[in-house]
Amino acid sequence: MTIPVWDYRPELEEERAEIHDAVDTVLDSGRLVLGASLQAFEREFADYHGAGHCVGVDNGTNALVLALRALGVGPGDEVITVAHTAVPTVIAIDAVGARPVLVDVREDHLIDPGQVAAAVTERTRVVLPVHLYGRCADMTALRRIADEHGLRIVEDCAQATGARHDGHLAGTLGDLATFSFYPTKVLGGFGDGGAVLTGDAGLAEEIRSLRFYGMKERYYTLRTPAYNSRLDDLHAEILRRRLRRLDGYLARRRAVAARYAEGLADTGLVLPDRGADDEHAYHLYVVRHPDRDRIVEAVRAEGVGVGIHYPWPVHTMTGFAHLGYAAGSLPVTERLSREVFSLPMYPTLTTDQQDRVIEVLRKVVSAG
Ligand SMILES: *Cc1c(COP(=O)(O)O)cnc(C)c1O
Repeated sequence: MTIPVWDYRPELEEERAEIHDAVDTVLDSGRLVLGASLQAFEREFADYHGAGHCVGVDNGTNALVLALRALGVGPGDEVITVAHTAVPTVIAIDAVGARPVLVDVREDHLIDPGQVAAAVTERTRVVLPVHLYGRCADMTALRRIADEHGLRIVEDCAQATGARHDGHLAGTLGDLATFSFYPTKVLGGFGDGGAVLTGDAGLAEEIRSLRFYGMKERYYTLRTPAYNSRLDDLHAEILRRRLRRLDGYLARRRAVAARYAEGLADTGLVLPDRGADDEHAYHLYVVRHPDRDRIVEAVRAEGVGVGIHYPWPVHTMTGFAHLGYAAGSLPVTERLSREVFSLPMYPTLTTDQQDRVIEVLRKVVSAG
């Protein structure tokens, strides 16, 4: 039995009839761009979160770019985020011309509010927490720091659709929140896609314009030169159907995590902190061990896929050398990058597959 680390095909197979129906719906509507399907998805995604406004965009990276632009962030400004993340988090800050200020994470992989407070300068405009692997950052502490210094919060929810912090859904705790519908994400689309969520009607209007060349929608009046970052109606219509299944899929991810937690409890692996039942969305199930490289090689040799998220902290990447962070400057991030690895995690993972993952890991870890 080989078990891939990602596999969205069985999920899409379960949904094949719904996907075909979505294609028919868009075909019948006669409107492929900025049409009724996009509008309906935006309404439904906002309602799911109990949030005021959603703007569909072309991917999660541009969702971040547009959120920062809507806040007027640009050259001379600083945005505080983490190096322990997917690289697009930091790329988006760079793309608007602002300076990414990278701070360390806590042992639980999430941004360290104490480090954020220490990194604030008179140039800081935004704190950009990443709800990494599907677990929310400490939004209570971050909100306190942001309010104290007059900063805005943009939540990077690319990995955390459906996660909660103190009962509140990820994406409802900042000034703006960005999502990715890349196919492996918790709510994946049929290709690339993304969204920005906000309770602020003015910011939503700004983002609607920025995703459409900077026009006023439907009027050929340019407000400010921008790009094209629209979400297609076909993607939106498929996402509408997938959104109805989201809670079911989250429950299945959480059940996989519970089985892993039980099966791997006494192995010496550091397992994810689960928090309350509905806090973690389990985009990834990331464990830690100092002997990571040996374990990963041996587990893969047994046909069990594992990933590493992420092997190179962003501040050590050649492309970000200009930021001037020396190796050793973010010690927790750098240690975690040597110890983390991700087990197969998706809603359609069968119990046999889960038990095989557990069996292989138990054997490989204890052989060390
Ligand atoms: C996937 C991801 C993004 C980017 O989303 P895309 O849709 O791939 O552009 C941004 N931030 C994080 C944390 C991600 O995991």
